[in-house]
Amino acid sequence: MQFATWNLSHAVKKSPDRRASAWRYLAGLGIDVAMVQEAGRPITDVRTSIVGPKREAKDWVTAVVSYDPPIRELDQPVSPSWGRGLEFRVPDAARDGTLAVAIVELPAARPVVVVSLYGMLRYADQSVLRAASDLLPIFDTPLGKRVVLAGDLNIPTHSNNMSERRRAGPILALLESFGLCDLVRRAKEKEILKQGVQEHLESCPCGLPDCSHVRTHRHGRHAKGAMANNDYMYATDDLADRLESLKILNGDTDQSWGHSDHAPLIARFAL
Ligand SMILES: [Zn+2]
Repeated sequence: MQFATWNLSHAVKKSPDRRASAWRYLAGLGIDVAMVQEAGRPITDVRTSIVGPKREAKDWVTAVVSYDPPIRELDQPVSPSWGRGLEFRVPDAARDGTLAVAIVELPAARPVVVVSLYGMLRYADQSVLRAASDLLPIFDTPLGKRVVLAGDLNIPTHSNNMSERRRAGPILALLESFGLCDLVRRAKEKEILKQGVQEHLESCPCGLPDCSHVRTHRHGRHAKGAMANNDYMYATDDLADRLESLKILNGDTDQSWGHSDHAPLIARFAL
């Protein structure tokens, strides 16, 4: 079963034809469920879709889209296993348009919670922190054992600006403290990480011996081949152990760049 994350860049790309072409491209990737950000309306070529809060407020959304399995919105408050009668709304404190939570029902396996998260600029860190605060109680429920969380978090853990990195690291470590693991790192360890061919890839500015950064974004003002790891995928151990491949469509000739300045990440799990 394949899960993808992609920022479609529709916050700046407004043409309906251009948007439709990006949606067709995504639908043609053969994935089952997509976590999308800056995903423009109308959402086409989909069977089911779930969008985040304030769904009418913008012409683009953060959403979870299914191309095959039935999905439903997490529309009930969450009760942690340790607190009988306690209930937490999700979303609650998240910034509008940054968080969508869906439950994927699987015929022969336990459901999977799928979270699309957008680190909206002008404190992307705050977007992630507020969403993380909302999501925390889910991890203390049976549903929280099988979670995929992904999105354009805009958290630059690769930065060589030490003050930027000092803040970025703990924010993503917070997600890991919930029991989520970085799928790129896991895929690299398992030697199942597949990236596109990039002729002019510069070395990562983080300089860390265990660097697992990948280029997921390219910007007109970036130096050619500069590292920009804006997009991330995480999953709980139960799913990460079932990871079969992680593919990043970031090659120089990948069609994704024709639609967006972000590359899709596609995780395949044996479910
Ligand atoms: Zn790095």
